[in-house]
Amino acid sequence: MLRTLKLTAFTVLVGGTLAGCISTPQNDLLNATLWTQKSVEFKANSMAMYELAKIKLDESLVDKNWTGAPDEQGENYSGKPPAVMLDVDETVLDNSAYEAWLVANNESYSSKTWVPFVRSETSTPVAGSLDFIKYAESKGVKVFYVSNRKGPQEEATRNNLKTLGYPIDTSEDTVLLRKEKEAWNSSKKSPRRAHITENYRLVMVVGDNFSDFVDDYKGSIDERKAVLDKYDDMWGSKWIMISNPMYGSWESAAFGHNWGLTSAERRKLKHQSLDVWVPTEE
Ligand SMILES: [Mg+2]
Repeated sequence: MLRTLKLTAFTVLVGGTLAGCISTPQNDLLNATLWTQKSVEFKANSMAMYELAKIKLDESLVDKNWTGAPDEQGENYSGKPPAVMLDVDETVLDNSAYEAWLVANNESYSSKTWVPFVRSETSTPVAGSLDFIKYAESKGVKVFYVSNRKGPQEEATRNNLKTLGYPIDTSEDTVLLRKEKEAWNSSKKSPRRAHITENYRLVMVVGDNFSDFVDDYKGSIDERKAVLDKYDDMWGSKWIMISNPMYGSWESAAFGHNWGLTSAERRKLKHQSLDVWVPTEE
């Protein structure tokens, strides 16, 4: 009897300790979120990209044939005033606190939890973005925020940006969200780029996702690489990509963009997408 009691006490003690370890959720977002939220490496990287954007912006203002919208700009645009277009999430606003909530609670993204996060207006600035936007504004460049946040989230989005000191031009609608107009119902951004190019020379696009730049982002990993190569002269000059290891079409490309699969199935296909070193014997 005594032996049984001792064993039970031992089991409770060790089991409790182990349970404490195991209760840290095993969530694939952990490292990416830690890097985005806490690393100086990410901050230095995004600051460098925005410094590059300033240099390229100066070049674009001198070269009137320069356009960052090769598929939408059309002709006779050299006399139009310059504009830049920035995505919002993970380009201007850092939402790593939401991703950290997913990690802490072992959850996956859902609009049910995302919308309250947007309404909390607690996103923080991506390093370098505020400096760049103020620089662009000081040069007389119109700044458009183009996001796939949906129309009803516009007020919270504007409030969050304003609280952080981001300038928002009010001479016209410069916060272009998804579903604000019927033509903007898609997550594809070319209709909004086309809208900007009607009156502006769109000199630069800044984003964190392939879809911020091209509509053809939903292909396979190889197909996406071919699209990247097709526009190889744009990257780092007219198109500036901010790193986002937490989410994006790069991830869904690994499982055919099929969010109907279970998380286990998606995870398996991500594993299978990797090129794995095969050690050879000496
Ligand atoms: Mg984004």
